[in-house]
Amino acid sequence: MEPVRAVIGLEVHARLRTRTKLFCRCVAGPGGAPNSRTCPVCLGLPGALPAANREAVRLAVRLAEALGAEIHPVSTWARKNYFYPDLPKGYQISQFDRPLATGGRVRIEPPGAAPRWIGIERIHLEEDAGKSLHEGFGDDHSGIDLNRCGVPLVEIVGAPGLASPDEAFLYLERLRSILRATGVSDAEMEDGDLRCDVNVSVHGDGEPWGARVELKNLNSFRGVRRALQHEIARQAAARRAGSATVPETRLWDDARGETRPLRAKEEAHDYRYFPEPDLPALALDDALIAAARAGMPELPHARRDRFAAALGLPEADAHRLTVEPTVADYFEQVAQAAGDPRAAANWVLTELLGLLRERGLPIGESPVAAADLAELIQLAGSGAISGKTAKDLLARVAAGEGRPAAIVEADGLSRLDDAAAIESACRAVLDAHPGEAAGYRGGKAGLLAFFVGQVMRRTGGRADPGRVHDTLRRLLG
Ligand code: ADP
Ligand code: MG
Ligand code: ZN
Repeated sequence: MEPVRAVIGLEVHARLRTRTKLFCRCVAGPGGAPNSRTCPVCLGLPGALPAANREAVRLAVRLAEALGAEIHPVSTWARKNYFYPDLPKGYQISQFDRPLATGGRVRIEPPGAAPRWIGIERIHLEEDAGKSLHEGFGDDHSGIDLNRCGVPLVEIVGAPGLASPDEAFLYLERLRSILRATGVSDAEMEDGDLRCDVNVSVHGDGEPWGARVELKNLNSFRGVRRALQHEIARQAAARRAGSATVPETRLWDDARGETRPLRAKEEAHDYRYFPEPDLPALALDDALIAAARAGMPELPHARRDRFAAALGLPEADAHRLTVEPTVADYFEQVAQAAGDPRAAANWVLTELLGLLRERGLPIGESPVAAADLAELIQLAGSGAISGKTAKDLLARVAAGEGRPAAIVEADGLSRLDDAAAIESACRAVLDAHPGEAAGYRGGKAGLLAFFVGQVMRRTGGRADPGRVHDTLRRLLG
């Protein structure tokens, strides 16, 4: 089969972390009774006049700075006209021919390949529309909630530089961590803070690019990856069958795992863009640019590199630790306090994140403080407690029983190092299971693991399994 190349470009909308909306003082965050957060400006009532929210502008500039984009000292607002029930004004205020910033890039690191920079075409500000509610109003009615009208968004239009669904996933993940690390957006897809339109086309080697299809209704990063896999397969099959892909907008149906046509691709002229008459041009003053740059954190890709190079972590661990900035922060505290980055990485990635996942908690609500995990790692690292005890101890610290060293002290959990004590535990187990002992001597070598388990139980997990193993073999041999 002739190889087909995919070209993917994402348009990402992120809700800026402001208290109020983009052009009025209504509260912007999620929540609030339907239609309770509205005013003449965001409802578009006649005579109401918008005024740009300086904090929203600051956050968008901060993102542009973090992405290395060229920030334009003067940009302009434009009306994007279309009719939709959740858009009472009949237009969104956006930016069109003179956006806030152009260029910039995001680094992705496909596993087993060299890192790649994905270009950004433009970054601009725009207001959100309201929400149509189709559930709970009967079959022939829908509800409208206008709380979201006028909520500030930044749109990041990516270059068509992604070559696979996996790359699209990595790009989104990295963009999200940049948005969060910089404090620009909470970027929570479930809350609608982060939304993305996906553009994809396929072509044969050395051929011009195919027609682009835009996919809508993507609610998760996994959804994006799946939708792309299906859509690329669909376009490739059409190509093999000799039928050309038409430019169109398709809807992803996550339950059915397929895309279906929604409408012909709209073009810029369909929106009858024109300069927003109610707002002056957006001019950035030095104070605003300085405020946008202030306290810029180390970016996720740089942090990943540092974790690998300076802390000596495997690339995969460095990557997983830097997907969420809050996880990276927690890890750094543990690593520093414990003085052992590799052990800290293992404990955070496997035990701690496992425990949080089980309880459905974000790391910010971890029942184990970084200092406590560090103390536990030191106890295990110094050999004061066994690995088994260390894991039990984590659960007890999480349950609020106290700090690790204090629990070890109070309950006498330190590792059983006394050879005589280990031997007597082994003897007791063998005496208690004469049948199995005979079975082992008769050739059932697998029974050794059973004995080791029994001894570990008898010693409350405090013995070193390797030593138990050796002692048992000696006694049985
Ligand atoms: P529109 O508003 O029509 O969606 P934009 O300029 O906002 O247009 O977005 C264009 C998006 O489509 C960009 O993210 C870009 O990377 C992507 N894109 C452009 N051409 C192609 C193509 N041939 N295949 C896949 N994606 C494409
Ligand atoms: Mg677009
Ligand atoms: Zn308002």
